[in-house]
Amino acid sequence: MLGEKIRVENGKLVVPDTPVIPFIEGDGTGPEIMASVRKVVDAAVEKAYGGKRKIVWKELLAGEKAIREVGEPLPKDTVEAIREHYVAIKGPLTTPVGGGYRSLNVALRQMLDLYANIRPAKYYPGVPSPLRYPERVNMVVFRENTEDVYAGIEWKMGTPECEKVRRFLNEEMGTDIPEDAGIGVKPISKFRSQRLVRKAIEYAIAHGYPTLTLMHKGNIMKYTEGAFRDWGYELIREKYADYVVFEGEGERTEGKVFVNDRIADNMFQQILLRPDEYGVIATTNLNGDYISDALAALVGGLGMAPGANVGDYHALFEPVHGSAPKYAGKNVINPTAGILAAKLMLEHIGWKEAAERIDRAVAKTISERKVTYDLARHIGVEPLSTTEYTDALIENL
Ligand code: NAP
Repeated sequence: MLGEKIRVENGKLVVPDTPVIPFIEGDGTGPEIMASVRKVVDAAVEKAYGGKRKIVWKELLAGEKAIREVGEPLPKDTVEAIREHYVAIKGPLTTPVGGGYRSLNVALRQMLDLYANIRPAKYYPGVPSPLRYPERVNMVVFRENTEDVYAGIEWKMGTPECEKVRRFLNEEMGTDIPEDAGIGVKPISKFRSQRLVRKAIEYAIAHGYPTLTLMHKGNIMKYTEGAFRDWGYELIREKYADYVVFEGEGERTEGKVFVNDRIADNMFQQILLRPDEYGVIATTNLNGDYISDALAALVGGLGMAPGANVGDYHALFEPVHGSAPKYAGKNVINPTAGILAAKLMLEHIGWKEAAERIDRAVAKTISERKVTYDLARHIGVEPLSTTEYTDALIENL
């Protein structure tokens, strides 16, 4: 089948019945995971639409496979194809430690300006969790993907560049930075904060989440973290006032998003003690990194954690975990994080019925205690292989 490209018209994604969706297999366990993902998605789409809709997969090269086949880890054609098709999904890619090429994941996010990292954490009954009432966890983190300390503006202690910055700050700006300090800069801008918060509030409204929380460390870092909070409130007040109630100004109201903010350290205890009071969390890069991993741990760990990197129109879906190379080729890895990433992708293109089937099938399969090794060792059951688990899921679609 040839398929048609997804396009953007009047600021909206237009999805044909046979969209071409590029995928990157990924390294290590990536090929096993992506094989499972495509099988489950194809079956869910077939069940939901009875042949009227079908994804036409298009493989793109990246990582070790790209090096083997075309001699470079991230061919230009791959980036261009994602740009042209708007929506894509990828397996994990290995980043060589201490040399080699830089992170392909980071490169893809930057080249396509995928500024929102979206990480849902939802509990599926039967998954081992350290919480007493894990069923109360249903949150989605929107993490700013392009600035904050991750922007990589840093100088190494003792270098001439570091010394120059240190002198400037000490002599011109009245600071007192010692000679043996490395220096990092944390830019947080209004435009980038607001476009992230816009994605988060629109998601909360569209998916009926009761709460949006701006998470920040603004009590200490007033002009970066504090500004993130202020710019977030400003945008919501100006553009979304009809859809929200602000904490301190009214009660929670059915059909409206309750908007509040929390200081980052407090937020960590909130997700443990009162998870049911939170829904969508919008936050800066470093906070988002920490809180989304903490949330993943509450709902089954890395094997269960999906993610998406989204820009104005482009979106790249992926499991949060890495390539887990020690399990490569062993047919044991848990493909659920990849499958839930595909579920997010189906929601993103508006194929809700197929997404819901996947959601229900994951819930049912796990509640039947049919799980891969990572969950089996905590539940105390015999593990299924990746392919057995995939087949069990498909049976439950
Ligand atoms: P990792 O691949 O995520 O694996 C760490 C451990 O997490 C595994 O050994 C396994 O734990 C568990 N795990 C991960 N995925 C799982 C799954 N699907 N099912 C069950 N368990 C799973 O992290 P890493 O070993 O630090 O990184 C390996 C490579 O991946 C590195 O090159 C790293 O840079 C890269 N990476 C890529 C991405 C990405 O593509 N977005 C993200 C993170 C890391 P047990 O051994 O305890 O079972």
